[in-house]
Amino acid sequence: MGNLPQIKETIMLIRELVSIPSPSGNTSKVIDFCEQYLKGLDLEIKRNRKGGLLITIPGKDNGQHRMLTAHVDTLGAMVKEIKPNGRLKLAMIGGYRWNSVEGEYCKIETESGDTYTGTILMKQTSVHVYKDAGEAKRNDENIEVRIDEMTNSEEETRKLGINVGDFVSFDPRVQVTESGFIKSRHLDDKASTAILLRMIKWIKEEEIELPHTTHFLISNNEEIGYGGNSNITPETVEYLAVDMGALGEGQSSDEYTVSICAKDSSGPYHYGLRKHLVNLARKNNVEYRVDIYPYYGSDASAAIKAGHDIVHGLIGPGIESSHAFERTHESSLINTEKLLYAYVQSPITNY
Ligand SMILES: [Zn+2]
Repeated sequence: MGNLPQIKETIMLIRELVSIPSPSGNTSKVIDFCEQYLKGLDLEIKRNRKGGLLITIPGKDNGQHRMLTAHVDTLGAMVKEIKPNGRLKLAMIGGYRWNSVEGEYCKIETESGDTYTGTILMKQTSVHVYKDAGEAKRNDENIEVRIDEMTNSEEETRKLGINVGDFVSFDPRVQVTESGFIKSRHLDDKASTAILLRMIKWIKEEEIELPHTTHFLISNNEEIGYGGNSNITPETVEYLAVDMGALGEGQSSDEYTVSICAKDSSGPYHYGLRKHLVNLARKNNVEYRVDIYPYYGSDASAAIKAGHDIVHGLIGPGIESSHAFERTHESSLINTEKLLYAYVQSPITNY
């Protein structure tokens, strides 16, 4: 397979990616970063109107294409209302629970591009004041942003330039431990994005000839359901979403292996492609788990739903406590990389 890039470099790239705020709907900075990362590699790169990045590497065979995608958009929020006391009410972007961001530091980006910091809190946070601080519902009504500015009224907050519709992003709090864990928000799906970007670089630098023309889509609307369901060429046979494996009680995925998804809420993924991925994993000594995700959809299932006649699959690193306090281990990243490198170099089988 040739020498794979160093895992430390992938982790450094994850660190950079998670540190760029990119809630769905406000992803141009992180897309700029990805484009910059690939600059000078003599690649065919373009942006689609939705703001995603498309990279095409011609292969030996141009009759049958393959497409791989990972998404850079993340969960986040939008200012819904400025309260009379100057604090902010939020509307969620993407699917999560308020308790997963309660106490989190955040950034508010105004329309003119200024940013303010703040903290996402329950209105009833102080135990010295609120008897029900523990029991109060974590809901749209009680969650608010305390802005790090001297404001006590709606008017003063407006003077800062903050308005309804401003994007709010969460502090990723990225940490890499000696024991090989990466703890950070937005590992979904910036861990996979880093793997794909590294792989594109590797293919070019090592002058690997791919068996088929291969498209890479860095998508930017996955968390809201329609990231990678367009810009699929009519020649595309296989479409693989590279996105997180879901962990929890009863799940077979873990933080050390690559997850191969058999089925999620959208239904089963293509059986033939799944078997091809499992065979590749076995042949290349890749540690893997086949799993079912109960509440999950991907860019690949979105593409199928949009009507594309493709063979679809989903693999990715196992992410603990997804859409909340995410963590994975470098061994999961290594196994995901190993499977992907084998996959892009394998011929498309007959379906
Ligand atoms: Zn995801």
